[in-house]
Amino acid sequence: MLRPNAPHQPLMIVGSIGLDTIDTPFGTAEEVLGGAACYSSVAASLFSQVRMVGVIGDDFPEEHLAVFRTRNIDLAGIQRCAGPTFRWSGYYEYDMNQAHTLATHLNVMADFSPTIPESYHQTPYVFLANIDPDLQLSVLEQVRKPEFVMADTMNFWIEGKRDRVLEVISRVDAVTMNDAEARQLCNTASLVVAGRQLLGMGPRLVIIKKGEHGALMFTRNDYFVAPSFPLEEVKDPTGAGDTFAGGVLGYLAFSDDSSDANIRRAIVYGSVLASYTVEDFSLRRLIDLEAGEVMLRYAEMQRMTLFTA
Ligand code: AMP
Repeated sequence: MLRPNAPHQPLMIVGSIGLDTIDTPFGTAEEVLGGAACYSSVAASLFSQVRMVGVIGDDFPEEHLAVFRTRNIDLAGIQRCAGPTFRWSGYYEYDMNQAHTLATHLNVMADFSPTIPESYHQTPYVFLANIDPDLQLSVLEQVRKPEFVMADTMNFWIEGKRDRVLEVISRVDAVTMNDAEARQLCNTASLVVAGRQLLGMGPRLVIIKKGEHGALMFTRNDYFVAPSFPLEEVKDPTGAGDTFAGGVLGYLAFSDDSSDANIRRAIVYGSVLASYTVEDFSLRRLIDLEAGEVMLRYAEMQRMTLFTA
């Protein structure tokens, strides 16, 4: 349960900030707020003080920044550059576990070189959300010995910059990616083999996300499977993985505890937050989500997964 006297460490998040155009069997959305850093920062802000790092173009709507401010997210690490903002467009069929990319326009993200503000340098928890692995490495170079760093990635970077993705993985405490990406990176059909292989590359925690089928956690001494929260209506799964990861790291920073038992709790919080994201397009559902709603689904997840010997 959320303790008011928890340590509350700050968390820095770097990742894409963009405008998404999405088509699902349940509707469409054009040029809406998206990007890995946006979903994960808003999710994490339910638990901890978030310091965001990323780049936006001169066309990025001011009203989106206001969303972050209402959640008390520090925007000192967001740079506005001349040119268009990062854009992604994609569609889903009835199997909403699989996003089909139509276009990825890196735009201002292509030449971005992040400068981490002095006020962020000593941030104990860092989430390298999905973005160019060269940018993830550049952030790692600039921070002073964080306590816990987790990285995420996706097929676009595994295909385009595999060696850099592997370098990121070798330098972090935790790595997360979805099932298809783990199979692609580790060249195996088995997620258990992929999980062990990723642990062998250096991190002490691996989390493989399986969309509506939940998430797998691997550490040296523990293995845990969390379901996703069962929903009857899913409108748009975009950002579910980023929301999940932001929730996990936000909770770890809030409790300042990365023991196996606490990571299990964090994963369940991540799954609960992701279940809200998919109920609507973009960050619409996540933006005004309240702690009480999160606690209700957390308790339900606990009840749902208990069984006797
Ligand atoms: P997910 O949690 O995997 O559904 O992430 C969806 C978000 O990833 C979308 O809001 C996109 O803007 C963002 N995205 C898509 N492609 C990329 C990419 N190549 N690099 C970084 N972010 C991306």
